[in-house]
Amino acid sequence: VISASRYAERLERARAAAAENGVAALLLGPGADLRYLTGYAAVLLERLTMLVLPADGQATLIAPALEAMAATESPAGAAGLVEIVGWNETDDPHRLAAELVERSSGSGRLLVDDRLWAMHVLALQRGLPARAFGLATEVLADLRMVKDAEEIDLLRQAAHAADRVIDQVAAGRLVGRTEAEVSREIGRRLTDEGHDTTEFAIVAAGPNAASPHHAAGDRRIGPGEAVVLDIGGLLGGYCSDTTRTIWVGGGDGGGEPEPEFVAVYDLVQRAQAEATEAVRPGVSCEEIDSVARRVIVAGGYGERFIHRVGHGIGLEAHEEPYLVAGSRRTLAEGVTFSIEPGIYLPGRFGVRIEDIVACSARGADVLNVSSRDLRVVAG
Ligand code: ZN
Ligand code: ZN
Ligand code: ZN
Repeated sequence: VISASRYAERLERARAAAAENGVAALLLGPGADLRYLTGYAAVLLERLTMLVLPADGQATLIAPALEAMAATESPAGAAGLVEIVGWNETDDPHRLAAELVERSSGSGRLLVDDRLWAMHVLALQRGLPARAFGLATEVLADLRMVKDAEEIDLLRQAAHAADRVIDQVAAGRLVGRTEAEVSREIGRRLTDEGHDTTEFAIVAAGPNAASPHHAAGDRRIGPGEAVVLDIGGLLGGYCSDTTRTIWVGGGDGGGEPEPEFVAVYDLVQRAQAEATEAVRPGVSCEEIDSVARRVIVAGGYGERFIHRVGHGIGLEAHEEPYLVAGSRRTLAEGVTFSIEPGIYLPGRFGVRIEDIVACSARGADVLNVSSRDLRVVAG
């Protein structure tokens, strides 16, 4: 659980970062930025809920009257860190936000969260025609990237729960069931193991495994094929995201995987391990990507590694930093992200192995604990 004092610290750091960047105020709708600063998991509605956080003044949470109680009970609301202002059905909430901005802050820029609906952004811009707008990522990404001990603990709990589900599914029946059936089973198991919600459960069998974000469908899993399982959900507000690729033996397909699958699996596993070993404070994000990519290129499959090696994770499944060529962001203690190289052979199979790691002073603290070795299951 995240304590109220954390929210106070985060609000203070966000204010300081805003002031440093010539920003008058942050305007944040429902989403990860709002949850990060206040703990308020506001519902996303056409009615405006918005934190107005001036660099130099009182933080105000504007909420529709029917949501005001929930806002008041949020961690930052209950701790008195934000003032709750409810608005009624016939009020103009965008004007209310504009008035709060004009009342409390200088002439600097206004930053909105990057998921704020266009209808809200345009209404705010009409109400504040002299202001320049930008994205709150500019000041919040650096704060959100570095996780504190409580956040890493939640990410570890989520990772371990997802690991248990992978182990359960790999040990269960697969042959003859559709991808969609197995995907629904994963969803149930994630919540049984402590997740609040399942966000995704990719089950990609046979040639479907060559599509990294394949949507589980009607294809029945057969003996003698690879299955990619990429699963994740939310636990205590924090995300899990792990991938394992297993070989389903059994039936007439025989036990042993085809030789090229074994070679590709070995390459992905080595790329994943070497990228993990390269993690330490001060290393650039693009370097982690290139460590994995060098292994796969040397193995002759560079063209088939068709995505970045990883992404930051926390309140959102994908967030800064992105581990991709061209990213000069550097790792620091507390930064959490995925390492998930993959090789995809269209029409045949795919292999991906994904762990969540936290950068620590000693290197990578790998949050996932399920085996990364090739599992040949009876299915
Ligand atoms: Zn993905
Ligand atoms: Zn994933
Ligand atoms: Zn991922």
